[in-house]
Amino acid sequence: MAMHTTTFDVKTHDRDEMIDITASIASAVRESKVSDGIVTIYVPHTTAGVTINENADPDVIHDILASLDKIVPWRESFYRHGEGNSAAHVKSSLLGCSARVPIVDGKMTLGTWQSVFFCEFDGPRTRKCIVTVMGE
Ligand code: ZN
Repeated sequence: MAMHTTTFDVKTHDRDEMIDITASIASAVRESKVSDGIVTIYVPHTTAGVTINENADPDVIHDILASLDKIVPWRESFYRHGEGNSAAHVKSSLLGCSARVPIVDGKMTLGTWQSVFFCEFDGPRTRKCIVTVMGE
């Protein structure tokens, strides 16, 4: 079984933002030449995450970010973390820092309306995304 790991930067522009990184993942899958396997997308940050969701209507992304803000407000009296970005840490844990997509016939098996999104919760910053393709 072959294993290929690539890392790329993601530049974010807002405190909270979801950036479609599907094209970068697809290109890592293509370059790996893996025909059947799995790709793992990993974000090595404690205030960012990764998720798979709808790419067609941008209102979906707006609604996800607005909902997260409502569930986890930026300011709360009970937060203890001295850095002042507790909400970003909680959002990161809610969404998680990795996602996996099966690869069949050299392509990710994403649904028609699915994209992979890098999720920034304490931007703007330059972030990293690590993509590992495993398979044959
Ligand atoms: Zn912090």
